[in-house]
Order: sequence, then structure tokens, then C-alpha cells
Amino acid sequence: MTKFVYDFAEGNKDLRDLLGGKGANLAEMTNIGLPVPPGFTITTEACRAYLDSGREPEGLAVEIAKHLDGLESAMGRKLGEPGDPLLVSVRSGAAFSMPGMMETVLNVGLNDASVDGLSRQAGGNDRFAWDSYRRLIQMFGKTVCDVPGDEFEHAIDAAKQAKSTDDDLDLDADDLRTLVGSFKKIFAKHTGRDFPQDPKEQLDLAIRAVFESWNADRAVLYRRQERIPTDLGTAVNVVAMVFGNLGADSGTGVAFTRDPASGAQGTYGDYLANAQGEDVVAGIRNTIPLQDLEKLDKTSYAELMRIMATLEEHYKDLCDIEFTIERGKLWMLQTRVGKRTAAAAFIIAAQLVDEGVIDLDEALHRVTGAQLGQLMFPRFDLSGRPSQLAKGVGASPGAAVGKVVFDAQTAKDMAAGGDDVILVRRETNPDDLPGMIAAQGILTSRGGKTSHAAVVARGMGKTCVCGADTVVVDVRGKKFSVNGTTVAEGDVISIDGTTGKIYLGEVPVQPSEVVRYFEGTLDPAQTDDHLVTAVHRIMSHADARRRLAVRANSDTGTDSARARRFGAQGIGLCRTEHMFLGDRRELVERLILANTPTERDAALDELLPLQRADFVEIFREMDGLPVTVRLIDPPLHEFLPPLEELAVHVAVAQERGEDVGRDEKLLAAVRRMHEQNPMLGLRGVRLGLVIPGLFGMQVRAIVEAAVDRARAGGTPKPEIMVPLVGAVQELETVRTEAERIIAEVVADSGVEVLIGTMIEVPRAALTAGQIAEAAQFFSFGTNDLTQMSWGFSRDDVEGAFFWRYLELGIFGISPFESIDRDGVGRLIRIAIEEGRAARPDLKLGVCGEHGGDPDSVHFFHEVGLDYVSCSPFRVPIARLEAGRAAV
Ligand code: PEP
Ligand code: MG
Repeated sequence: MTKFVYDFAEGNKDLRDLLGGKGANLAEMTNIGLPVPPGFTITTEACRAYLDSGREPEGLAVEIAKHLDGLESAMGRKLGEPGDPLLVSVRSGAAFSMPGMMETVLNVGLNDASVDGLSRQAGGNDRFAWDSYRRLIQMFGKTVCDVPGDEFEHAIDAAKQAKSTDDDLDLDADDLRTLVGSFKKIFAKHTGRDFPQDPKEQLDLAIRAVFESWNADRAVLYRRQERIPTDLGTAVNVVAMVFGNLGADSGTGVAFTRDPASGAQGTYGDYLANAQGEDVVAGIRNTIPLQDLEKLDKTSYAELMRIMATLEEHYKDLCDIEFTIERGKLWMLQTRVGKRTAAAAFIIAAQLVDEGVIDLDEALHRVTGAQLGQLMFPRFDLSGRPSQLAKGVGASPGAAVGKVVFDAQTAKDMAAGGDDVILVRRETNPDDLPGMIAAQGILTSRGGKTSHAAVVARGMGKTCVCGADTVVVDVRGKKFSVNGTTVAEGDVISIDGTTGKIYLGEVPVQPSEVVRYFEGTLDPAQTDDHLVTAVHRIMSHADARRRLAVRANSDTGTDSARARRFGAQGIGLCRTEHMFLGDRRELVERLILANTPTERDAALDELLPLQRADFVEIFREMDGLPVTVRLIDPPLHEFLPPLEELAVHVAVAQERGEDVGRDEKLLAAVRRMHEQNPMLGLRGVRLGLVIPGLFGMQVRAIVEAAVDRARAGGTPKPEIMVPLVGAVQELETVRTEAERIIAEVVADSGVEVLIGTMIEVPRAALTAGQIAEAAQFFSFGTNDLTQMSWGFSRDDVEGAFFWRYLELGIFGISPFESIDRDGVGRLIRIAIEEGRAARPDLKLGVCGEHGGDPDSVHFFHEVGLDYVSCSPFRVPIARLEAGRAAV
């Protein structure tokens, strides 16, 4: 029979999945002899069973009764017994910390009779007893029975008003007794029943409410944001109550074992005398610094210091704690490895290495690529104390400054005219996309971290603050107002996508020190910036440990140079299509409109030197390192004007009697090439097979550039990659032509050229054994592979319906962001296995967006790829995560 309930003495910190973080750590503290009030934990498994079936699992009630018996014996009191009651708290505690998301009920066991017993226990303290009772009805009402919390708040306010005070402490025992009466009425009005007097029923209902709070809206939302799986369930801790509100010799506090910002050892915390835990969190009264507790209660303070040292030594990390002192006796209510800022995570990890507490491998586990990413965003320099207008949710990090605009068209127009703009909307929808792309940042007054604006902005790496609800947006009037200040179109604001703060005017932006370090302009040996030295140490260790190489996706010399400074070990994807834009469009048009092979060859001949020059630059920046150049992928009509625009232009010109011969031809070509599903149409290798000479020209440009570099003393390492291959025959056809050109151009230059393919069509993954016969390398194009495996259009879905999929938990995160291990991942495994079986020295990499995603990097390590390739900015993140995956 499954065991659903564990006494604290039976658990330990490693049972986090089963007992939740709080339960596991209470058990751990109990076992290392720290003063924890007795109690027990109901497992997450029991919660899952309850949520699945809507009923308590069989045997749970019996186990709870048995453990309650034990708790009663340990305390020498019975739950809710009128003369001398035992009271308990019922607290949620999931495996991942979800602060404030789920429920807690304190003082369970109090009723009309035991309130007097409690008063006697407290030495005749009626006020305390009635205050505890009103807290129970309030918390129980809200949490267990969904009674609107503000009704209780209003009743408290009315009681205070009647006494002409605004301090809770001025309410005496009689006032609180009357308040309990009002609370009971509120309870009965909303629930249709009296407040339950049976302590066991209270306990039972409170436990169920905690189970159910797992699925409360805010908890669901939080999990989605934090990527916490939806099906874990929460544990429930039932703990004997200890009271910090019994008088001046009692109190409650929170503390860190070291400074969570700098990592410095010392005493950091707050204490509130004569109070319960929730008062500290609610900020109702002012706390005192923890050091001052020494003056109030030397013995408890000394014991607390000893305990904090024990905890650090035991957990080998910064811990945060909650404690209560009940009439001079110290109790530990909670500990956990403390949350910290991204900067502190690196600093503390390096510091613990210096102190000999952990080694560098462990330090790597203590930091994440996501944290490193946060440290790379530019920051506002707030030393000039800019005036803060409002605050919203920091939805996509970064610091953006620009002129306010209220619609996508104006955003585009002003950006095209060279202005930096911030797009301000109530909320965004897919129509706003062009404006979002054009803007430096996005500000909305509605919606949270998963709103359209937030999701899209994060996807684009664009700064976004959303849900700034004090901002009243008037789109028609082209202005917004905040508490009396009006900001009109064209006024400058600054928004901080990390903190959510919005400033009026231009706040200066500082580049991140960490980026300066990666750029090589800040020498870690010469700086006393703790963060930079910590990042340097940990990154160096990651590099020493990782097996995966990290390359960059780059198609310009500048990006390649930056990528190399950031530690890229080559280019994994050079998309050649950008080389067909700008001034070169006309050449592409000529290519498409060519009537004869001669005209076509002439257009290709003009493109050739331009392409070659692009490649020379990239090979120069990446000298000695492999550069994978992908032959052109998108449909050619993308380089032509849009159909409707052109049709209108031609019609108007005809009307005016102008000569439209060329444009007419162009229009006919655009019509001819128009496809309903261009992403599944004439692109990639298909283009190469249909337009004679196109791929050949690109291959020639690549190889001539490589030969140029080799003749100039360089060591170019070109790798030619064919996109969108689904059948080996496609690749073979391209390869035959490419080999002929390579043989002709390379001659005796010593340049070695590899030919390989992308694996981005499911059929390619499934026939990888055949394809490997014709490919020296594979690079997984996980963007298209995801698109085609799921049948999701990569360009449309994020705004269209993913929110619903996330809500339903079909996936916890977009499969375009983090690799879908079960589906797309399976195709990758098959391709690796069959590809390597056919060609043991096959080189394997990935160049889709997933190459820079922390979780996905771990997957690519596990399945044995040789490298990941990602955008230059994500190279350090991939290096770090590849190191973490290897230890
Ligand atoms: C891919 O599909 O993963 C890929 C890298 O190619 P692109 O994004 O250019 O289609
Ligand atoms: Mg692709």
C-alpha cells in the first residue's frame, strides 16, 4: 500500500519530489537536530491522486489520523480540545517553490469552545485567543470556501473605525470577539453553512483546499511562466502551531545566511516582535534588522546564529529561513536554498569555491544560462534619479528608450525615418506585429507575462513591459496618462523590461559589464568587479568541461567577428539569403525574369562576385574555423514586390498611360510564382533543382572565396550545406554539380570543402541512413523540423493559438523555443543513429533556434551531437549550458 503521510522524522531533503521543498527541508532540519515544531507531510502523490479522482485516495484518512495521534502525543494536547487545545497550521509545499501561489491555513483546531482553552494556555490572554480565532475564520473562509477576502477586510476596517484607530493592535479582546461574530456571519452568508466547529472537519477541509490550490488560476499562471510542469501536485504540511504573537518575548522573522545580493557572509534579515509570520510578509508593521534581536533576546539570537551556521554547512549554499520565537523559545518554520539574483548566483557560486565549500563542477550547477542571459542585457544608469512614471510587469528584459507611438503604422513610419520608438498599446494582437518589430520596446497596460505582447517580444528578444495598469492608453487621442501626467505621441520614455519600471524622458543606457567582458574590452584579470571575475571563472570551467562545440549563426563579417569574440568555434549556419536583398534585388529580379539561358547566366554572373566578397569577409573573420554556408533557402518570390502592391502600381501606371512593360512582366512572374503555402513550396533544394545555375553560382562563389583566402595565407574551412532535403536523390543531384565546380576551382589550392545537408524535413530524419551516404555532415534545422513534425506554421502559431495550448498544458513551453524531446527529439535520435551507422565520421550539429536554448543544449549533449550553433549573443549561454550538461 502506498505510504501517503510522513512524519518529519521520516523524511529528508532529497525527498523533495514526494514531500515538496518545504516538507523535505522541515524533515531535514528535524533530523539534524534543529528545533522544528512537530508535524507531518502528506505527499504530492496523495495530492495527485486527489486531483485525478476528485476524492481522497484510499487509506489517506487512516494515515492522517495515525499521524495526528502521534503529533498529539508528542505535544501532550489534542486537536481543538476545549480545555487545552492543540492547534495546527496546514501549509502547501510543492517540489518547486511557488511563492505566495498556494494556500496556508493557520490556527486550525480553534472553535467557540477551544478559544477559551487557548486563552488559558496563553496565561489568560483573551485578546490573543480571539485574534487567533478571527484569523482562522478569515483564512479558512478565503482559502477553503472562497469567501471574498475583502469582506473580512471591510469588517476589520469597520471595527477600527468604530474605535477611531487605524492600528489592528488597538482592537481589544471584546472588539475581536465581536469581530469573530461578524466574520461568522460573512462566512455563513457566502457558504450557506455555519463555520465548522469540528476541529477534524476543519483539518480535513483545509487539506483538501491546499490540494486544490494547485490548480488555482494564479498557480497555473505562475507555473506556466516558470516552466514548472503542471502535473506535480503539492504536498501538505500539518505542523503544530507555535505563536510569535504571545507578547514582547515572542516574535517572528526571516533571514538569509549570507547577503543574497553580494554573497557576503553575515547576518541579513528582519524581525518583528509580537507578530505572526504573515504580518512580516504583509508589511503591516515595520520590522527591525535581525541584529537588533540580540538586544531583545540574547539567548535566542545566539541560538539562531548557531543554527544558521549549521544550515550553511549542511546545505553548502545560501539558505533563507523563517523562524518564530514563542515566549523565548526559538522554532524553525522553514528553510530552503535561497533565491538570488542572477548576478548573486555567479558571485556566490565563485565565493563558495573560494571558501572551499564546493568545487567548480558544483559551481557550474549553481548557475544557469538563463541567468547569464539576464546579465547580458544593457541596463539603465539610474544615478541621475530619473522620474518613474509607472511600473508594470517586466516581461522581456532589456532597457529601451524611444518616442511613444500608439499604432503599428506610425511605429513603422517613424522607425523608417530613423527614430527609436516605443509602441504603447492597451494590449497587442497579431496586427501589431510590424510595429513591434519596428519598435525598440513595447509597453502595454494590460496582460501579464504570457500575454501576446510578452510572448512575441520575448521571441524577438525585444524589451517589453506589460500589464502597467496605471497607464491609461488613449489610442485615438494618441496619448496615455498616468496619475495626472500625460504623455503624447513623440514624447520620450524609457522602459526597463527586467524591473517593469517606466520612466519619463531618456534614461542613459549602460552596456552590460558581462558583455564587455565577452567582447574583450574588460579584462577579468584587471577588474575588481566581482561579477565579471565570477563569470570568467565559471565560463572558463564550462569551456574546460564541455564536450559540445559551440558555433554561431551569422551571415556577415561583423556578426562573425563578434561571435568569435564571444567564443564561437565556427559558423554553423550562414544564411545566404540576406545577400540577395538591398541593391541586389534587381539582380534577383533579372534572374527570375530571364527569358533565355543567356539572360539568366548574365544575372548569375553579376551576383557571383558580390556573393564571393561576402564569403571572403566571413572566412577572414573565422579563419581556421569551420564555416557552414547554406545555399539559398527561401522562395525566390520573397525577393520580389508583394503581389497586391505591384498589381495596384501597374494598374495606376497603365491608367496614366505610362510605360509598364517591365513591371507587367514582373507582375506576371509574381503571379506565376505565387504559392498558397510558400513554406512548403519552391524553396531550399527544390529551387536549386528548378533554377539552373543558381546553386552552382553559390558554390562557385563559396569556393572561389575560400581559394582567395587560402592564397592570401588564410585557412578557410568551408562547409556547403543544402537545405530542405527530403530524399537522398535531391542531395546527390546538387552534390554532383557542386563536386564538379569544386574540383575545377580548388585545383591545387589546398582548400578542403565538405558537402552536407540540413535535416529539417521529417522524411530526411527517417531516411538519414540513405542521406548520410551522400552527406559529410548533418545539421538539424530544428525550426523547420518542428514546423513540419507538428504541422504548425512557425510564422503564425505563436500569437494564434499557442496561448490555448499552454493553458491546456499540451506543452509547457513553445516547441519552437525549447526542443520537443518526445517528438522532434525522437526524429533527431533516429537520424543520428542511422546517419552514424551509415557513415561513422558523420559530423553532427544543430542550427535551429534551439541551439541556444538552455534545455535543448542539454538534450543535444545527451544525444551526442558534435556542436550546437546559435545567434552570436547566445554563444556564451550555449557554452555555459554545454559545460553544465557535461558535469
Ligand atoms: C531551421 O529550419 O531550423 C533553420 C535553421 O533554417 P531556417 O530557420 O533558415 O529555415
Ligand atoms: Mg529551415
